[in-house]
Amino acid sequence: MNLFVISNNLFDDREYAIAEPKNDRYGDFPKCSACGGPIGSRRWLPEFMVKLSKKKVGDFVFGSVDPFLVTEKIVNIVYDNEIHGVTSFNQVTVTNNKNVKLYIPEIEYGALKIDEEVSGFIRTKQQRCEVCRLGGAISAYNKLEPAINTWDGLDIFVLRQLPGTIVLSEKFYNLCNENMVTNLTVKQMQDYYPPWMKQ
Ligand SMILES: [Zn+2]
Repeated sequence: MNLFVISNNLFDDREYAIAEPKNDRYGDFPKCSACGGPIGSRRWLPEFMVKLSKKKVGDFVFGSVDPFLVTEKIVNIVYDNEIHGVTSFNQVTVTNNKNVKLYIPEIEYGALKIDEEVSGFIRTKQQRCEVCRLGGAISAYNKLEPAINTWDGLDIFVLRQLPGTIVLSEKFYNLCNENMVTNLTVKQMQDYYPPWMKQ
């Protein structure tokens, strides 16, 4: 059982376009059901409109849109194969390219926990909440070892212990490869370090 983490550089448009929101209305932070603390960035609100940086568009589109946008091809892969972890896809209007249809997915928070002892997590403070696992800033780790018995079967989900980290199951990642999905870069979970962490 392998898990993969999306590791694209969000602002690299050397090959594929990145997106910039044209509407900057944002709602509240998603909150932890236990402690009420913020567990992600503020939600972007409709109407969803973006401008793309160039003509060539990948199946995954990154940039200043959280978490990312996808093409209809990804929507179809998710629905045709019972991929679990996306609660909805909202259509996004592309203001400078009428030929592209993009969607923004709403992705669930997974139950999966990292085995912090095996991974060698170093925290600058103690974490405050057992559910969201936030509150204690993580300064370093040796590897990202999942406690695989805590996995709830989702094929795409947000990892609670590392904000902004999106995990794919082997099933979903293999389907992306079989369908020749473009602009998706992943790392095997054990080898992933977020861009803000010094290695
Ligand atoms: Zn919490």
